[in-house]
Amino acid sequence: MTPPRLRFAPSPTGYLHVGGARTALFNWLYARRHGGQFLLRVEDTDKARSTDASTRAIFEGLEWLGLRWDEEVVYQGASAARHRADAERMVANDHAYRCFCTAADLDFRRKLAEANEGAFKYDRRCDELDRADVARRVAAGEPNVIRFRVPEGSTGWTDLVHGEISFPNKDIEDFVVLRSDGTPIYNMAVTSDDIAMRITLVMRGDDHISNTPKQIMIYRALGEALPQFAHLPMIHGNDGKKLSKRHGATAVADWQHEGILPQAMVNFLSLLGWSPGGEFDEVMSIDELIAKFDASGLRKTASVFDTKKLEWMNGQHLVRMPLGELSPLVRRKLASAGLATEADLAARPEWFNALLELLRVRARTVDDIVRQARPFLSDTVGYDETAAARAWKDTADARALLAAAREVLAACALWEHAALETDLKSLAEARGLGVGKLFGPMRVALTGEANSPGMFDVLILLGRDVALFRLDAAIRELDRRTG
Ligand code: GLU
Repeated sequence: MTPPRLRFAPSPTGYLHVGGARTALFNWLYARRHGGQFLLRVEDTDKARSTDASTRAIFEGLEWLGLRWDEEVVYQGASAARHRADAERMVANDHAYRCFCTAADLDFRRKLAEANEGAFKYDRRCDELDRADVARRVAAGEPNVIRFRVPEGSTGWTDLVHGEISFPNKDIEDFVVLRSDGTPIYNMAVTSDDIAMRITLVMRGDDHISNTPKQIMIYRALGEALPQFAHLPMIHGNDGKKLSKRHGATAVADWQHEGILPQAMVNFLSLLGWSPGGEFDEVMSIDELIAKFDASGLRKTASVFDTKKLEWMNGQHLVRMPLGELSPLVRRKLASAGLATEADLAARPEWFNALLELLRVRARTVDDIVRQARPFLSDTVGYDETAAARAWKDTADARALLAAAREVLAACALWEHAALETDLKSLAEARGLGVGKLFGPMRVALTGEANSPGMFDVLILLGRDVALFRLDAAIRELDRRTG
C-alpha cells in the first residue's frame, strides 16, 4: 500500500471559514493516521477574487490549528501551461474537440431553447466539423474553446461518505475545459492538479459532488487512475440552516481572538461529521484524534456548529492542558490587557500557577481567565453594582460584618486554609449566621464581584495585607453610601 496523499484546496477569496478548516482537518487527520501526506493547494485561478491577504489568513489559520502541510504550497495559477497542455492532450486523443461557437451564438441558442423545449444542452455542432476545417480555423487564429466530449452511459464512484453515487451522462453537456484565452475551467484545473500532485483521496465539501462526474471523465480521458472521493456533509447553525455569519463567528481567526484554544477548536471540528464510534469521550487530544480517525467514522448527515459546545469543549481543554503551556498564554493576554507585566508574573510562578489552577476550572475561554484574574492583579477593585446591591443590601449590617471579619483576619495566627476556616466559621457562628451570609459581603469587598473562587483561596491569593486593605476600603465605601 502506498501512503495516501491528500490535499486541502482553498480558494483565497476570504478568511479561513470553519467549514474550510473542518475539511483541512479531516484531510490532515487522515494523512497523519495513515502515514501519508497532506498538501496545500491555493486555488488562485480566479484572479479577480483572489487576494494575498486571504492566502495569508488561510496559512495563519492552518498554522494556528497546527495543520502543517508536508510539501511546498502549490499555487494553481502557476500551472496554467500544464492545464492547457492536458486539455490539448484530450483533443489529440479524441476525448475533446475545438468549439468555435461564440458566446453570443450560444446565448441566442440558449434563449431559443428555453423559449421552446426547456433546458439548453450544447448540440455538438462543432464536433461535426471537418478536421481540416478545424485545423485551418485554428491556424487562422479564430477564437475557440475546448469542449469535453461526454460519452454515453453513466459516471459513478464509491464515495467514502455517501457510498455509491452515479450520474447519467445524458444530463451532462459537452462541457468546456479550456476557454478561448487558454485559461482552464475549474474542473480542468482541479483534475490536472490532483493528477500532478498524485492525490489518492479527494476529500472536500459535498457542494462539489456535482463536479465529480466531470472530473472522473477527465481522469479517464487522460488515462489516469482515479483517486478515491469523500464528500463531507454541510455544517449547519443550531437552527438547522447553513452556517453563516448570522450564527456568530464563522472565521477561525475570530474564535482564536475569543480565547478558544487551537486544540479545543480541532477537537470540536473533528466531531462535525465524524465520530470514532461506540461509547467515547468527546474530549480528545490531537494524538488521540490521529489514532482514532478513519473514513468509517465519517457521517452522511449535516452537523451542527453549536457555539455553546465549542465553549464547553474549550473549558475541558483548559482544565486538561499542562500549566506550562497555559501560563505563557494567559501571561501574554494579561500583559496586553494592561493588568500586569509578563516579567512580574514570571517572577512569582507559584502564586501565578495557583491562581491559574483556581480560575481555569471556572473558565470557558482564556479571556474568561483574564477577566477573573483582574481582582488578583490590580491594587483596588471596582464594585459590580448588582453584586454590591445584593450583598450589601443593608449597609449597616454589611459594615458591621466586614469590620468584624477584618478584626478576625488581622488577628488570625496563620494565613492558611485551616486557620482561616476555623476563625471565620467561629465568627459566623458567634453572629448566628451561616458562612454564606458572611462570605457574600466579604466577596464583594475583596473581589468586587458576586462570583469568585472559594473564600479561603481568595484570601490566600490576595495575601493578608491586600485583604485587609480591601476590607478597609469597602468599610469606607459603606460609610460613604450610608452618608
Ligand atoms: N477550491 C475549492 C473550494 O474552495 C475546492 C476544490 C476541491 O477541493 O476540489 O471549494
